[in-house]
Amino acid sequence: TTEFDMEKTLKSLGVKEINEGTSTGSDNFSSGTIIESRSPVDGALIAKVKTTSKDDYEKVMTRAVEAFKIWRKKPAPQRGEIVRQFGEKLRKLKEPLGKLVSYEMGKSYQEGLGEVQEMIDICDFAVGLSRQLHGLTMHSERPGHRMYEQYHPLGVVGIISAFNFPVAVWSWNTALAWVCGDVCVWKPSEKTPLCGIACQNIAAEVFKANGLPEGISCLINGDYKVGEMMTHDNRIPLVSATGSIRMGKIVAQAVAARLGKSLLELGGNNAIIVTPEADIKMTVIGAVFGAVGTAGQRCTSTRRLIIHESVYDQVRDALIDAYKQLRIGNPLDESNHVGPLIDTDAVKLYNSALQKVVSEGGNLIVEGGVLEGEGYESGCYVKPAIAEARPDFEIVQHETFAPVLYLLKYSGSVENAIEIQNGVVQGLSSAIMTNNLRDAEQFLSSSGSDCGIANVNIGTSGAEIGGAFGGEKETGGGRESGSDAWKIYMRRQTNTINYTAELPLAQGIKFDL
Ligand code: NAD
Repeated sequence: TTEFDMEKTLKSLGVKEINEGTSTGSDNFSSGTIIESRSPVDGALIAKVKTTSKDDYEKVMTRAVEAFKIWRKKPAPQRGEIVRQFGEKLRKLKEPLGKLVSYEMGKSYQEGLGEVQEMIDICDFAVGLSRQLHGLTMHSERPGHRMYEQYHPLGVVGIISAFNFPVAVWSWNTALAWVCGDVCVWKPSEKTPLCGIACQNIAAEVFKANGLPEGISCLINGDYKVGEMMTHDNRIPLVSATGSIRMGKIVAQAVAARLGKSLLELGGNNAIIVTPEADIKMTVIGAVFGAVGTAGQRCTSTRRLIIHESVYDQVRDALIDAYKQLRIGNPLDESNHVGPLIDTDAVKLYNSALQKVVSEGGNLIVEGGVLEGEGYESGCYVKPAIAEARPDFEIVQHETFAPVLYLLKYSGSVENAIEIQNGVVQGLSSAIMTNNLRDAEQFLSSSGSDCGIANVNIGTSGAEIGGAFGGEKETGGGRESGSDAWKIYMRRQTNTINYTAELPLAQGIKFDL
């Protein structure tokens, strides 16, 4: 039944057997090599996508630069109206798009729908924002002068995205960038190219129906080499890149070398601190969902639990029980909790993390393993594992993009737990489970969590679009989505206007002519 469904799903999203991976809107072309998209769910070939060559890329950039000249002149609330229409289309296509996300990436159908809902939510947010792109007015020190600041469109925004949020991350960027008056060129992950094709088809219809030019929404496809075309391109003032820290360091250097701006959303190593006064039931729910949801492939997945010694055994035993109830299998079947990893390379990384934690002296209290047999033919299904470890283990310092949870014990005050939690290079998401007000406030204070996201009595994973999303340290420092994250998509200008017949010079300088 899944196969039959998929055929209908792909058709409703305009995804064909072989797709042109380069698009400037409704004009699709491509002369590069072919990527095959295989589903981690059952290993089946879903469809193929032709990648973007250097010549294709030049055509895209020429159109994007031209489109910007038109789009930037459209009043922001009118740009908001286009984004509103895009959100409406997403509402209608929520089910097929959610299903494609689930089948191509491997997350559960419910999570696929959730990702599309995030796209809808950010569109709604952006529509309101289109009437609120305001700067400040200041009092000038000079008589008869007025001073204020305004935000103008920036230009072509390059978007590089990761496989694990194959549609939402793009929309977090585009919905804001479009109302800000920018045009976007997107390179999705080479592991989820069909999600990119489907999204571009949806956007293209909206721009075409409104008589807008080619180039406001562009798609390019391929591996890191295609991404590099954007990072080295002076015509792109802002590159927004989501993915591994390794990738972020390369992208940041390439963009900085030409003094461009980059918005980086990189890896996390997220922890939940469990204090003696934690609600254990809530802790277990939050930790299990955080660690095994999306098979541990969220940037905000819970990797470390830092548990006070007084409740350590209780939490550990409750987790072991909860893990026994997890059902692993086809993510389109809603009774399963855990789907596959993205590919067999990810399975190798999972296996080597388990070996490494044992070789460093860790103790596997929930054993892992790769599943075989009926329903697991893709070779991408693994058992979520839990290891007792120590904060200084090398493996605990790294992000393992798989369902492996490390239990760490602390004693004494909450400051000790905070020190462990901050003692890694990443700084994305963090949480404390406690009913102790002092511990909670300590965790949120200036000497508390050093992450971009810090939660009390909810887990680390997921975020609402209304807040700014991103992390500190090697997570890259970028902020996307809500709050005032829009400002990075615009250029800021300070304006001073003299409405007198005098021209007083600054610093009292006299310049008699
Ligand atoms: P990845 O770094 O392998 O790839 C991400 C994207 O970068 C892909 O599109 C890839 O083609 C491109 N890329 C790689 N090298 C490049 C280069 N030198 N120049 C230009 N582009 C390049 O990451 P992945 O495996 O797809 O995703 C998983 C990682 O993403 C995890 O570390 C996860 O934590 C992180 N992530 C972070 C966030 C966040 O918001 N902080 C969100 C999602 C994922």
